[in-house]
Amino acid sequence: MFLKRHLNPAIPRQPANLAELAGSTPSAPVQHPTPTPRLSALSTPHAKQTATAPCLSPMRYAIFGDIHANLEAFQAVLLDARANDATEYVCLGDIVGYNADPCACLEMVRDLQCPVVKGNHDEQSAEWTDLAYFNALAARAIQWTRDQLTQSQKDWLRALKFSRLVRNFTIVHATLDSPTSWGYVISDLDASASFSYQCTQLCFYGHTHVPRAYVRDVRINEVPASSLIIEPGKKYFLNAGSVGQPRDHDWRASYVLYTPATHTVEWRRVEYDIQTTQNKILAAGLPERLASRLAEGR
Ligand code: ZN
Repeated sequence: MFLKRHLNPAIPRQPANLAELAGSTPSAPVQHPTPTPRLSALSTPHAKQTATAPCLSPMRYAIFGDIHANLEAFQAVLLDARANDATEYVCLGDIVGYNADPCACLEMVRDLQCPVVKGNHDEQSAEWTDLAYFNALAARAIQWTRDQLTQSQKDWLRALKFSRLVRNFTIVHATLDSPTSWGYVISDLDASASFSYQCTQLCFYGHTHVPRAYVRDVRINEVPASSLIIEPGKKYFLNAGSVGQPRDHDWRASYVLYTPATHTVEWRRVEYDIQTTQNKILAAGLPERLASRLAEGR
């Protein structure tokens, strides 16, 4: 039941205004208990959960990345994860960049004390290097982000690893064959290169902002990124999509729930207060396009 209730959700139109959004029903089955959560209520979900229900629920990972300083989307994802009995949290990188809340998002990830890998925006926001590699929109956002982050926050980003082993699976932001080069896995061929460096059955990644699932047995297949059961003898290279700037024409925040005991992976989409995010982008003087693209999911 846990698996089947959220297969291939229809993509809802973007809410016309804040009031509509506040009164809307998420197409994901979970009703958010509080539409405007306070940061403090989200800072220690693991500690709160273990205090009330120790060891009764199976280990369940909420795996998310490409938050990109979108606080409202990140809060909505954490609420959805907790409502769906997540017990562990894993971050696939690109906490900052593009949107207007880099410091708050970074501190929330830090508070989770979870495994995190470094994304290209995390790397560049912590350095003073040339931004020629980035397109104009991204470069302006990174420069703005550099001006917001404290030295301690930059040091924390700089210390992140490019890939990590978490229990029995691997996490990386972009690719396993060259994690520091920031290539994109968007084809079977790209996935093949990463699979040859994948020592665990499962690897979760991000970077493209598009949920994807590659499965390797005798050959490599791309399967729908909705829900799947991990089968023996196969390897999986799975993109969790993006929390803060999805690019698959669905504006809702994307992340993954992984339950080792049942060998299941489920992609989730979560509505959030997009108008507040857009207003913050404009108020910060960031490019207007960064606000409008959120509504288009691209
Ligand atoms: Zn990204």
